Amino acid sequence: MASDPNCIFCKIVAGTIPCFKLHEDSASLAFLDINPVSPGHALVIPKAHAPTLFDSVDVDLAAAIATARRVATAIDKVLQPAGLNLLQANGPGAGQSVFHLHLHVIPRAVGDGIRMTWEPKPGDMAELAKLAERIRGAF
Ligand code: 5GP
Ligand code: ZN
Repeated sequence: MASDPNCIFCKIVAGTIPCFKLHEDSASLAFLDINPVSPGHALVIPKAHAPTLFDSVDVDLAAAIATARRVATAIDKVLQPAGLNLLQANGPGAGQSVFHLHLHVIPRAVGDGIRMTWEPKPGDMAELAKLAERIRGAF
């Protein structure tokens, strides 16, 4: 399995640094974030090292998202949050600070002050069509 000796999450997978483990299977691991933005804030990672979504492989992603659902369900039972966000960052421009792919599972309360806001503005149809064409061409 891919592993990076300098990666903090690979060290957690290897058990050389501790974590508050929630769940694991052969391909994924879930544990509490050490700097929680809300009670129950958890991280779910594929055990195999991949820095970002771009480097990941489908089977590891599938394991991580399935584990995220299980973790979310357990958190929902225990904490009964008003809602829950899944968040995943790729690259410094997206706020990624640990370069081992991870999903944030963030239980939410109404008025908790966690901001993930952007203003929806109607797009330019011609620009949208052009962009969709360019992206389709990249598959
Ligand atoms: P990112 O900013 O890359 O999306 O999120 C990285 C997350 O990893 C942060 O929320 C940070 O608190 C968490 N984190 C960083 N180092 C550790 C660690 O050693 N243990 C745990 N449990 N979480 C960590
Ligand atoms: Zn790693």
